[in-house]
Amino acid sequence: MKGRIRHATPNITQEDIARVVEVLSLGQLTSNSEVSEFEREVADYIGQDGGISTNSGNNALYLALLSLGSDNKDEVIIPSFVCIALLRCILQSGLKPRLVDINENGYNISLDKIKENTTRKTKAIIAPHMFGDPIENIEDIVNLGMPVIEDCALSIGAAIDGKKVGSFSELSIFSFYATKVLTTGHGGMVLSSSEELLKKLRDFMRYDNREEYGISFNFRLTDFQAALGRSQLLRLDDFIKKRREIAEKYDDALKGKDGVRIPYRPKGSIYYRYIIELSDVDKFIEEMSNANISCKKPVFKPLHHYQELKVKYPELDLDKKRFPNTERAFRHSVSIPIYPSISDEGVKYVIEKVLSIPL
Ligand SMILES: *Cc1c(COP(=O)(O)O)cnc(C)c1O
Repeated sequence: MKGRIRHATPNITQEDIARVVEVLSLGQLTSNSEVSEFEREVADYIGQDGGISTNSGNNALYLALLSLGSDNKDEVIIPSFVCIALLRCILQSGLKPRLVDINENGYNISLDKIKENTTRKTKAIIAPHMFGDPIENIEDIVNLGMPVIEDCALSIGAAIDGKKVGSFSELSIFSFYATKVLTTGHGGMVLSSSEELLKKLRDFMRYDNREEYGISFNFRLTDFQAALGRSQLLRLDDFIKKRREIAEKYDDALKGKDGVRIPYRPKGSIYYRYIIELSDVDKFIEEMSNANISCKKPVFKPLHHYQELKVKYPELDLDKKRFPNTERAFRHSVSIPIYPSISDEGVKYVIEKVLSIPL
């Protein structure tokens, strides 16, 4: 193999480039028809009523939290096994995180742990569909009756019995960052089934030419980014098909390997990450790197490991014993390269290397 096999990489074609150039050539740069078409198309693809695009997934989540308004409830339930972005959004919104464990199988938030951690103070639940895997009991989570924000940043197109994630709750968010499944460079979106919330979200984004002085944010997506997103959306189902094909190859090749455990992945996963579990992750990453293959821990550090959080909220129970499944996932899981543009030869090479490392 020549060159390094990257861990993740965007998929940009000549058609994508032509579409962006076409929109740029029109001199149409900000928040015109491309942006509203993109919002319409993503909402239709997911099966949700409407959407508001933003310049990042982070800001989409931040606005979604703000749209829930102020009351005397201030706790937001989130899993500990997730990227820091979620925690930052909660803290920036003036809310307090309540961390819970994931399921014993797979990497998604545990319904039982949500129930145990629900209090009079619970304002919302953020339910991230992790690594491409739909939360199979998302309906039960929604039926608890509290506001749920589905975080679909890693799972656009994942579905449960044909119904796409992001369409189960009143609010869902997406990210179109460079290495996510579908990209606009940077970008994000909030989808909602509520006219009222959509109106509020749209209002948050209006900062110019208004009489009253409300809160507003300059978080917009540009038209040429939306053009890239629309062009990518045409290939999203192909991206997903390709990801599933690669995952199947990895499954078949690695399932018999001593020292490797293939974790449970729900049906309907789009395999944003392909994860294996083994005893010494750091050593594995190093040996793969020596073979010119980039692998990563799927989560840099679980949220309950952040000491700053303990300092800010001394009353939070961040004891490791509360998070046995997160601890297991953090210590033993590693993600190997998977993306539509990886070549068959690349996949073969990755398999060969994993099989050759004594584990
Ligand atoms: C990437 C990501 C975000 C934030 O998206 P950005 O576009 O990078 O701001 C939020 N939630 C999850 C689960 C993510 O993976």
